[in-house]
Amino acid sequence: MPTVAEYHRVADALDLFRLQSNMPTLREKKPFTRRVTLVYLRRTHSAFNTQNRQRHRGHEPSIGCIFRLRTPLFVRVPYGEAIACETVVALFYYSHRLLHHPRIYKHVHKVHHEWTAPIGIVSIYAHPFEHLVSNLLPPLVGPVLCGSHIATTWLWYTLALFSTTISHCGYHFPFLPSPESHDFHHLKFTQNYGVLGVFDRLHGTDNLFRSSKAYERHFMALSLVPVKEMYPNESKKDT
Ligand SMILES: [Zn+2]
Ligand SMILES: [Zn+2]
Repeated sequence: MPTVAEYHRVADALDLFRLQSNMPTLREKKPFTRRVTLVYLRRTHSAFNTQNRQRHRGHEPSIGCIFRLRTPLFVRVPYGEAIACETVVALFYYSHRLLHHPRIYKHVHKVHHEWTAPIGIVSIYAHPFEHLVSNLLPPLVGPVLCGSHIATTWLWYTLALFSTTISHCGYHFPFLPSPESHDFHHLKFTQNYGVLGVFDRLHGTDNLFRSSKAYERHFMALSLVPVKEMYPNESKKDT
């Protein structure tokens, strides 16, 4: 069992990698995290139950109807992942931008933006409509178009979930993709709608981000030195 002093030492060390200083405390995060996790587990549980009921009645689970069941050739896996990645980059940008339309935002996307300094589990904290059109459908289009195997699709969803959790985690850890871009989106609302930044560059929705301190820190750190030490704030306005 770690002592209180050891716990504080670890917390202080983690603080060096924290993006925003107004992040909620552990005590504030705990009930929220428990609530969202329970809702998600219940949904997953009922999806498995539906599949089991279908199997029990002698039907193939419905998910098997749209995906190949024959094992894919190894070379097809990266090809399927690349197509899935390209389609999600385009679809997520435009669906996310649509969710920021004033008429839609206040009814739907506002829920996700309750968190101006997000934490990992906020990646799946959204209005059900948003979860469907912006979180679940865009990653599904690529695998369906390619007729990907269900295992390739699961691999893709795992990578996508891993990536979105990192981009919401609130910490810029070494050897992991940079979360600066999406964290900046939660802070400023009208910047960085996309993933990878391609469509934001194309439509000029990253101009403020590109002139910020966060942009200088927007890279995968390959040393244990915190990026905030490499590129320190010059004024209190910098995050
Ligand atoms: Zn977000
Ligand atoms: Zn947004």
